[in-house]
Amino acid sequence: MRIELVDLEDGKGGFAHVYQQADLELGDDRAKLCGPASVNCKIRRAGTEVFVKGNVESCVEVDCDRCLKPIQLPVNSQFSLEYITGRDYESTRTAELTEELMSVSVFDGDSIDVDEIVKEQILLTLPTRALCREDCKGFCPTCGADKNSGECSCLEIEIDPRWAGLKDLMNGKS
Ligand SMILES: [Zn+2]
Ligand SMILES: [Zn+2]
Repeated sequence: MRIELVDLEDGKGGFAHVYQQADLELGDDRAKLCGPASVNCKIRRAGTEVFVKGNVESCVEVDCDRCLKPIQLPVNSQFSLEYITGRDYESTRTAELTEELMSVSVFDGDSIDVDEIVKEQILLTLPTRALCREDCKGFCPTCGADKNSGECSCLEIEIDPRWAGLKDLMNGKS
């Protein structure tokens, strides 16, 4: 879904849309939508700059890092974006690359792609580490059983500290 800037009256406008799950491909193996995604934003154009401000609400499904169980995470992301044309970017860049400019996106000067904003905002909310619960026990490394649903029969052999030296000896370390 693209917003054509020529359609904005007095350089201002708003945009609201609800994407159905099937309409939006996140393009990330780690996550998929588990509900519709709604976007609500205000757009303001000032000269060749465009400001887009709003929020994205949705729900994503990721796998638990330890047991791979699917986890659903709510998404509620506020964003404030700034766009400038490639030409403006080039001219400012040669002057000085300020930190402020780093957060600016370059666009073609004609339209803003809202699909991209929504995808990006959703992916930004993904945690680097997702656990189905704080104390998820994950899989047994020996038999692959899900340890959350009970201990398996594999024995975790604890070595008596008094014998640790013997183990080293057997491994040829001492
Ligand atoms: Zn888990
Ligand atoms: Zn096991």
